[in-house]
Parts: sequence; C-alpha cells; structure tokens
Amino acid sequence: MALVPFDDRDGWIWMDGAFVQWRDAKVHVLTHGLHYASAVFEGERMYGGEIFELTAHTERLFESARILDFEIPFTVAQIDQACKDTCAKNGLTDAYVRPIAWRGSEMIGVSAQNTKIHVAIAVWDWPSYFSPEERAKGIRMCWAKYKRPSPETEPVHAKATGLYMICTISKHAAEKDGFTDAMMLDYRGYVAESTGSNVFFVHDGALHTPTPDCFLNGITRQTVIKLARAKGIEVVERHIKPEELAGFTECFVVGTAAEVTPVSQIGEYNFTPAALSLSLMDEYAKLVRRELVAA
Ligand code: PMP
Repeated sequence: MALVPFDDRDGWIWMDGAFVQWRDAKVHVLTHGLHYASAVFEGERMYGGEIFELTAHTERLFESARILDFEIPFTVAQIDQACKDTCAKNGLTDAYVRPIAWRGSEMIGVSAQNTKIHVAIAVWDWPSYFSPEERAKGIRMCWAKYKRPSPETEPVHAKATGLYMICTISKHAAEKDGFTDAMMLDYRGYVAESTGSNVFFVHDGALHTPTPDCFLNGITRQTVIKLARAKGIEVVERHIKPEELAGFTECFVVGTAAEVTPVSQIGEYNFTPAALSLSLMDEYAKLVRRELVAA
C-alpha cells in the first residue's frame, strides 16, 4: 500500500480557531516548538460519532501545556467542540484525533516567554495500531535501549513531544530486529511502559501493572483498571522488576491507539494471550462503542 504523506491529503485541519485546507496547515521552520520541543499533544479516538473520554484528553492537553509553562488560548470546552467539529468537517465518525499545541516563531532562543501559542487539530482514519493477525497472536517486543527518566530529569507526566525522542529511537531499533515494539525500563530498572502504551501482566488471576510515577498514567490504563475491578479482578499497581516477568502468564499493552493488545514476547520472556487479556480486549472494544455500560 502506497504511503500517503501526512502533509499531502484532502480534508480540513482546525488551526487557531478556524478550518484551513489540509495542505495549507503549515508552520515556519523557525518555530520554537520544532527547535526546542515546546509542544504538547493528544491522541484520541472517535468511535461511531463519539470521542472516547474527550474531556479527559483535553484536560490532559491543558495540563501538559501548563507543565511546559504555557497557556492554551482557548477553553477546554472550545477544544472539545473543535475536536468534534473537525471530525464532522472531514466526514468521519470513526477516527484518530490529534490535537497539538506549540510555541510559535516570535522568539527562537531557549527563553520563549513572548511566543504565540498555537493549537491545531487533525483527524484521520486509523483503524488499528496493530494488524488483526498481530493482535490475535500477541505482539513481539524487545527491551528498549533507553530508560524512562526520573521526574527530576524530565516533565514525565506531560504528553510532550520531547519525551518521544527516546521512543522513536527505541521503536526503530525494535523494528530493525523484527519486533513490533520495545518495552522500556525506568531509571531505577523497573518495568515502565512501551514506546506508546502502558502495560499489564497476569499473575494468578490478578492484574499487575507498573505504578505510573515516571511515565504517563494513560487514560486507557485507567479505563482498563476500572473495567477489571468491576469484573471482580484484583489489580495491583506496584514496581515490577524485569526478572518477575518469568512468573507472569499473560501480558497486554493498552493505549488510545493500541487499545488493548496482547503481547506474546518481551525479550527473553514469553506469554500466551488467554482468557483475561482477550476478555478485556473485547470489553474495552464494547465500552468505547457504548455497547457496554460504563464501569
Ligand atoms: N504511554 C505513552 C508513552 C503513550 O504515548 C501513550 C499514548 N498516549 C500511553 C502511554 C497511553 O496513554 P492513553 O491511554 O491516554 O492513550
């Protein structure tokens, strides 16, 4: 399938309060966000005309901006509405939604107090992050070379573009070796998350998941914890050492893009997708499509 570049498509992008033609949604090369990673973003999905957890995503966008010391010049309600309007304008009812906010070009030093803050929202059709075959079998992952930094080193709870530098390098290395993704440890050596999703393990019928104290506490992660607890499944949030993976039977990753995706391998450890992973995968799919009463 030919790749359609993301800057050469038909459609409309919401930019600073108005719709512009997709190909005209441009920034200048001297944009602070490009040079110094002063940009924050979101990833959301619309299912059957409704964006799942829209306001939670928008609030996280505002909080990410606040952590990076800038203020988005719109209200949460305005951005919520703009996300919905962008889907409608592009005629999509099932879509991936990508809002992004960044510092403009008025200043290009490290200090950027007087830059204009821009916001754009693009939406596109993106059925599944992983292929259906990969999903059923479980994806294969290796260990990432880079570690998630400590909260004293980076603003780890912001969904900020700069934090993805080590994710892209790690994911590329994984793909070169034939893996789908890479699992990252944190600065202490505990299991953290993948390059774009949170992780869960199954041990004796309970779910174990790393404490999100140096990475994103994903909205999907929080949803899956609620779903599992509503089913009477015990969920343990704790620090997990990599060698503990030898005793875990199932593993899956969760995120807005990944949804719930079983994992068959992380480095030297193997897992078999089974009842718990598959039932949560199914329930999450029903919940986001409003076929299941919220947990
Ligand atoms: N960790 C990282 C690094 C991510 O990029 C994402 C996707 N936003 C997640 C976790 C999962 O977050 P969410 O469930 O809110 O999409």
